[in-house]
Amino acid sequence: MRKNRLGAVAAMAAVAALALTSCGGGSGEGDADSIRIGIKFDQPGLGFKDGNNYTGFDVDVAKYVANELGYTEENIEWISAPSANRETMLQNDQVDMIFATYSITEERNKVVDFAGPYFVAGQDLLVATDSDIASPEDLNGKNLCSVTGSTSAQKVKDNYAENTNLQELPGYAECVTQMGGGTIDAVTTDDIILAGLAAQPAYQGKFKVVGAPFSEENYGVGLPDGTDKCGDINAAISKMIESGAWDEALTANTEGTGYTPNSETNPPELSDTCA
Ligand code: GLU
Repeated sequence: MRKNRLGAVAAMAAVAALALTSCGGGSGEGDADSIRIGIKFDQPGLGFKDGNNYTGFDVDVAKYVANELGYTEENIEWISAPSANRETMLQNDQVDMIFATYSITEERNKVVDFAGPYFVAGQDLLVATDSDIASPEDLNGKNLCSVTGSTSAQKVKDNYAENTNLQELPGYAECVTQMGGGTIDAVTTDDIILAGLAAQPAYQGKFKVVGAPFSEENYGVGLPDGTDKCGDINAAISKMIESGAWDEALTANTEGTGYTPNSETNPPELSDTCA
């Protein structure tokens, strides 16, 4: 009896150990041959989940970089990384890398590291096609929507909060839905994100991106603080740019949105250290 119980305990421990290794143990590096990548799930053209399909420029850059680091597409586990959760997800080892329209900022750099930048966007406004809002100065008395934890919401709070009614939601797609319903006058975030959302079939002809960017958003690869991977990741991004794959991915993912990347800042220059 006693022996049997011990045997059962040993068997259970063995099963538990197996379960731990096969799901990455929930800590450390994860499975030796799989990689957990945080992306947006609701930003068409950048990071978008459609069933089991993941598409967008962030996804394409992530796949390219992962491949250069030795991971095939099958070895990538895509994880939703909303704006407000990104630092925490890296700090808590829930992801290995983040490609999620993630601007490199001094504040974020205190708690995470960044490789890149792999793209430079600019904060802009999305408004109704017949709106006369043309800059953040025109937002007086207006209802503006942005996302919690984003540089976009922070910039509004820092510079335009006095006369603007800012609503913060978990994702930009939700902001655009609200604007479709008429309760919001403008959505603010990076131009490339707004262009992708406005080009959705449901919104055809309804919205326009103002096209006067008022910030520079350097998209970095979010990594745990103290990483030694920036050199390899930056080399992979440089290779993607030099090979033409970067251009191809950007064109394919912005086609039909009317978006033109800023050619003065793109493609960005990379060093061999973290940003
Ligand atoms: N790039 C900006 C940021 O990192 C806005 C887009 C986003 O929320 O992902 O906050």
